[in-house]
Amino acid sequence: MPKPEPIAKISGDAAMQYTRQIVAFGPRWLDNPAHHRVEQYILEHLKGIDVEQDKFTQQTSVGPFAMNNIVAKFPGTKDGIIVVASHYETNYWLRNTSFVGADDGACTSALLLEIANKLRGRKLEGYSIWLVWDDGEESMKAQWNTQDALFGTRHLAQKWQQDGTAKKIKALMVLDMIGYKNLDILREEHSAAWLEDLIFQAASKFGYQSHFFNEKASVEDDHLPFAEVGIPVADIIIGPYGYNDAFHHTTGDTLDKLSPRSLQIVGDTVMETIAMLDQR
Ligand SMILES: [Zn+2]
Repeated sequence: MPKPEPIAKISGDAAMQYTRQIVAFGPRWLDNPAHHRVEQYILEHLKGIDVEQDKFTQQTSVGPFAMNNIVAKFPGTKDGIIVVASHYETNYWLRNTSFVGADDGACTSALLLEIANKLRGRKLEGYSIWLVWDDGEESMKAQWNTQDALFGTRHLAQKWQQDGTAKKIKALMVLDMIGYKNLDILREEHSAAWLEDLIFQAASKFGYQSHFFNEKASVEDDHLPFAEVGIPVADIIIGPYGYNDAFHHTTGDTLDKLSPRSLQIVGDTVMETIAMLDQR
């Protein structure tokens, strides 16, 4: 019997090119026309793929906003689903600045587009893979408030709990800010330890392990709403972004801080983790 084809390697250059294109739309805060253009850009890329849009109006501390989670579904032969997610919007409270979130939202949305390239038209000999571009991750005001953030993922997690999808999800990985040149991914303490162990094993196969889990921390991110409905999750996120976190949520979060190599390292590791999940 022929061995199942390995899932193709990720191109860091392609992911970087998509990052440039997303950044070129400008700040993509909720209600800004650029937000809508990025949605259209993602949907255009996903033509021919089974896509579900989860559109809703969300009440926030600064009023109601239209939000949209984009879910691309790649069917597999095994019963169960693996999800990889990234938020795509930028912070509403930074709307009067040039903040483009090159690392924070753009590069991970771009990496998902490159992962979609690798899955497109392929017969997956494993679990189904769903890629999620989620909306409304950022807190509405400068002071982080979990209740005034994570809107898209909270909406999706509740929907998936109600329709039975949550029970079918074997693992969900959130990607956040992993395009940074100095790639140093946290061991995140709300994440499932077994899934992080698997991610580390996957990274080690490529010799990437020095980029993973040198520091431990708890992060409030898009994985939390899914963990609350019982889905095994991992938040793949860096520690400080620049000295003393200088580029995080500042106009310093620009393309020059990123490296295609970082996107490729995380992309390959995620794909290998999926392959290892399929074999469990
Ligand atoms: Zn952010």
